[in-house]
Amino acid sequence: MPQLLPRLSSVLMLLLVACQVSAPRSPLAFQPAGVQALNQAQNLAQARAKAPNKTYRAYFGNLHAHTAYSDGILNPREAYRTAIGNGLDFMAVTEHNHSAAGGSDGIYLTPERYEDLKKNAREFSQPGKFAALYGQEFSTISSGNHVNVFNAATIIDVDNGDFKALYEKWLPAHKEVAFVQMNHPNYKRDMGLAEKKAQPAILMSDDADHKQSEARLLPFGVLKSDLFNDYGYDDYNRNFQALAAAANPWVRSIEILNGPGTNPKPIAKAEAYMEEDYFFYLNQGFKLAPTADQDNHFAHWGSLHPGRTGVLASELTPAGIYEALRARRVFASEDQNLAVYFTANGQYMGSELPASGEVKLEVQIIDKDEPQARYLLQIFADVPGKGTAVPIAQENLNPGQSQFSFLWRPEPGVENYAFVKITQTNADGSFDDVWTSPVWVGK
Ligand SMILES: [Zn+2]
Ligand SMILES: [Zn+2]
Repeated sequence: MPQLLPRLSSVLMLLLVACQVSAPRSPLAFQPAGVQALNQAQNLAQARAKAPNKTYRAYFGNLHAHTAYSDGILNPREAYRTAIGNGLDFMAVTEHNHSAAGGSDGIYLTPERYEDLKKNAREFSQPGKFAALYGQEFSTISSGNHVNVFNAATIIDVDNGDFKALYEKWLPAHKEVAFVQMNHPNYKRDMGLAEKKAQPAILMSDDADHKQSEARLLPFGVLKSDLFNDYGYDDYNRNFQALAAAANPWVRSIEILNGPGTNPKPIAKAEAYMEEDYFFYLNQGFKLAPTADQDNHFAHWGSLHPGRTGVLASELTPAGIYEALRARRVFASEDQNLAVYFTANGQYMGSELPASGEVKLEVQIIDKDEPQARYLLQIFADVPGKGTAVPIAQENLNPGQSQFSFLWRPEPGVENYAFVKITQTNADGSFDDVWTSPVWVGK
């Protein structure tokens, strides 16, 4: 699990850096910034999903990656260049910040490196070709897990784990921030439900090192070291609804897939699969779209696994991609180029609609390189606080079928949400899952 191995990954990184000296370098590493790699990516870009009748086009990328500016390898130039070569439309380099802690875990991003990252992102962004994004991965695992904060002008000078200060003081003072993403969730740790064996000793000692003085209200029989207080759960008296109210102005997405990016070699499928967490956090009242990221700690930006974060944007620029992410026109896909358009009464996924007795849900799937694929399409719906989302409709789509519509009758008087899960049966009999952002109806 990527989130469980900060120290181990540093050791692996050092080993790999040592190996780099004699290892052959990628031919991409010798190209001048951006341009040649962009040309190489042209053919891949042609395969992008096009939907001629739609306002928005689907773009595919990765919102979570590291370089040696924190605990990964190489530098942001090589990361963006590799991502372009691997056909991504956008990628965010999101270095661990940890600045306020003075790098107590050996990881921190300096202001000089952050300025260089921002400069590189400007150089590698080319309208219509590639959007180079940047961010910071705030906090540490043991003090509340990680969130990605995108497009901040400066290093976040908030103590690790102080999410209350982040949401209530620092973010309101930084209007340039595009949005915040909840990384590699694990709600079971906070509920005291995580399997003990799933927690490596490395984290237990990290937690002990990181002394936090505030009292915690622990469920009976649960040790402090079992809990992680993800995204500031402890800062809001271990009340998810209070946390959601504080976080919702900023958060827009949650990782449903992650690498693990501490795996040095590419893998056929993302192994960190957090569907349950997506369902859980939506049910607690968070307004989130799902993402499929890589969390690269090695030189596999865009090639670690085929999973992609998909966004429906009006233009391929950092501003266009951020606008789409803020609006939650977002889906997470195990397939590298399957696009899904999901609307409710004509409004795109991510929208919040007024109360309505009937809502027409429409889904369109576009996957040009797999015309013979079959799909199981499921619509999930839920009222926050009532138990997680359940399927209210499902349909098997045969080859050539790519559209589905459904008349949804939300529960009156309360807020409801609905989203789509698609399971594609591939030619070799394997499956790829895709999840959309919800639409919310009635407040
Ligand atoms: Zn992380
Ligand atoms: Zn990370």
